[in-house]
Amino acid sequence: MTPTSLFESEADGALVRVVLERGIDSPEGLTYRAPKSIGAVQVGDRVEAPLGRHDRRATGYVVEVNVEADIDVSRIKPLRRLTGLRLPISLIRLSRWMSGYYCCPLGMALSAMAPGAVKHGVGRRRIAVLTRTGKRPVEKLPKQTGAAWDAIVALPDEEFPIEPRELALRISAPTLGPINRLVKLGLLERGEREIVRTASDEPVGETPSLVTLTEAQRAVIDSITADLGQFASHLLYGVTGSGKTEVYIRVLEQVIARGECAIVLVPEISLTPQTVARFVGRFREVGVAVLHSGLTASQRHQHWMRIASGEARIAIGARSALFAPFDEAMGSKLGLIIVDEEHDSAYKQEDVPRHHARDVALKRAQLEGATVLLGSATPSLESWRNAMEGRYRLHELTERVGGAKLPAVRIVDLADELREDATNATRLAMLGPTLRRSLRSTLDAGGQSILLLNRRGWASYICCPDHRCGWTLTCDECDVTMVYHRSRELPIGGVVRCHHCLAERKLPGQCPVCARRVTTFGAGTQRVEEELTHLFPEVAAAGEMLRIDGDTMRSAKDYFEALGAFADGKVRVLLGTQMIAKGLDFPGVELVGVINADTAINLPDFRAAERTFQLVSQVAGRAGRSTRAGRVIVQTFNPDHPSITLAAKHDYKTFAREELAVRERSQLPPVTRMARIVVRHEHYENAMKIARGIATALEAVRAHRSSLRVRGPMPCPISRIGGRHRIAIELIAPDVGTIQAALTALRNQGLAKSDATTAVDVDPIALL
Ligand code: ADP
Ligand code: ZN
Ligand code: ZN
Repeated sequence: MTPTSLFESEADGALVRVVLERGIDSPEGLTYRAPKSIGAVQVGDRVEAPLGRHDRRATGYVVEVNVEADIDVSRIKPLRRLTGLRLPISLIRLSRWMSGYYCCPLGMALSAMAPGAVKHGVGRRRIAVLTRTGKRPVEKLPKQTGAAWDAIVALPDEEFPIEPRELALRISAPTLGPINRLVKLGLLERGEREIVRTASDEPVGETPSLVTLTEAQRAVIDSITADLGQFASHLLYGVTGSGKTEVYIRVLEQVIARGECAIVLVPEISLTPQTVARFVGRFREVGVAVLHSGLTASQRHQHWMRIASGEARIAIGARSALFAPFDEAMGSKLGLIIVDEEHDSAYKQEDVPRHHARDVALKRAQLEGATVLLGSATPSLESWRNAMEGRYRLHELTERVGGAKLPAVRIVDLADELREDATNATRLAMLGPTLRRSLRSTLDAGGQSILLLNRRGWASYICCPDHRCGWTLTCDECDVTMVYHRSRELPIGGVVRCHHCLAERKLPGQCPVCARRVTTFGAGTQRVEEELTHLFPEVAAAGEMLRIDGDTMRSAKDYFEALGAFADGKVRVLLGTQMIAKGLDFPGVELVGVINADTAINLPDFRAAERTFQLVSQVAGRAGRSTRAGRVIVQTFNPDHPSITLAAKHDYKTFAREELAVRERSQLPPVTRMARIVVRHEHYENAMKIARGIATALEAVRAHRSSLRVRGPMPCPISRIGGRHRIAIELIAPDVGTIQAALTALRNQGLAKSDATTAVDVDPIALL
């Protein structure tokens, strides 16, 4: 270390700038003194610092070292300690970008970089270790001790420091006695080392089956790997079952061979043991760290440390794995980020920092000179447009591997089905006659089926049967209808629940206005399960029917077990919400039934058509993955809707072209850029007042940025959640610069804070 620098007075240590992990919007941070007693402080160190008049404990990250005092030197406080966690400088830079782009305090962006388990040191233990002191025995050692010593001297340097027990094993000493004597004699020295200890969690790997690449796969791989080693963006559009994962693996191999590291992002729900095993099996020797919510805190900590220490060179995980601490300065240069199922909305984080992992992945790759590979069977229109306009290189896999065909999709009009059923049903059946017949024949032939209904519970509406009365049960705190859930515990009735604030109460028996007996509408998965049990009692009784949704799956473990039971063939009918639509590869599936394709179609959100197309295409893609042809039946009240007819034809390109034309005409993303500000307040008037203040400030921006469009203030489609009214303002502009300029103007006036009252969402994907 150089002695005193210009900014360091000998006694006190250097001045550093620290950004606290709080919602304070101060990108420069606060100045602290780093006393020499705490050790050398570097950019990226997470530190504990005193804050405010009472010196409350606060944590933050050092963003600059050797700075000049910006306040009276006597008022600069000393840091308390280093926490032991250090972020790579690249992640500090990435946080800065996120803070600017997503309009959120830098401290909040920094705070998202490392998992809580790492910050809290879960599972961290100090263990005793031994090193050789370099001294030699001055007199003859007793026999056993002497033998131990000779063996220890013969060990190579890299065995040390070593745990005492481990050392005893290595030198075949029967007890720790001789080793302890060597410590007493000063020949060995005790020290401490920090480790993260956890229940074993070596992910199991699948034995790699070496497939022969198809010509199409080979062409894609060659073309992507041709420009590794620099920032580049690729979009792989490959139909379901076209072998995208195999492409990822081969590209990864080349990145690893170059001595670089890689991140593989997968939506949480698709991060099944099956998926993980494929990667672990192929890359065991280079180290694969897995980051997902099914891990315990100490396991998460351990995996993170394996990345930070260079032990693991591939990180696979859900959204937050994007911040895997690969550090070029430590010999772990990031070479590739793969974003599988890049269209998936789970990549969007809905609280601060509100970011989209796919977009941040592109930024991280750009900052670190890495390649990005986005993959999907139904790319987001954002990515598709980027590819069409040459910002991403487009690669295509148009056919399934091994000669499997994309399944034939039959659209059935629910109106016709209901007419056919009118005579024998006492109430509206969820499975129309066509789907019922297909399910029956699939079961008879021993095949497996997947049934999708993207709605939980038993019924979405509880209302008065009398139209003139018109009463509907809504949540007291939210502007939404309450959903009826039957419970096994209660013999009759059950509870109604609000899916937004989670309020719950008993199902009312009668209309509170006119006292008629209530009726229910809008069936959910629970009711379909009941109907299935009624239709196929023998299948239900044998435990061969399983429902997968947010109510039945309490943890990742439940979910993985359920999928395991389906993969083993123990379960023959899998019913569920979109949880079952994603990325699963089960060769036995012959029939996929979409109970109601219309659940998203009428949502007041400009992406309703895109969502519907994705959902239907993705779930249809689960069928017919083996050589036996699969069948898909889609029930809908909108049989002519292009989202449904084009998904049925597996015609993504036409859908994308037509939908982009719609967006062009209505000047909506991805043709334009959008940011949305939602003001929330208990009192409608207050919310409106704050929102009007923002709108007025935006008017001023429009004076010199005339392309900025401002919509609102207006109540959100869900106008109240948890007792707070919600008022939205949407900013739309042809380019991202205009949006950013407008947000900066608001931010400078303190109008775009990310706090309990205001939420700023840049590139929003949900507009409810
Ligand atoms: P996608 O991710 O595009 O849906 P996958 O990569 O999961 O497709 O591939 C589907 C199936 O085909 C997997 O079981 C995979 O092991 C297999 N597969 C992939 N590439 C080949 C190949 N070249 N030859 C034979 N089987 C392959
Ligand atoms: Zn509610
Ligand atoms: Zn009534």
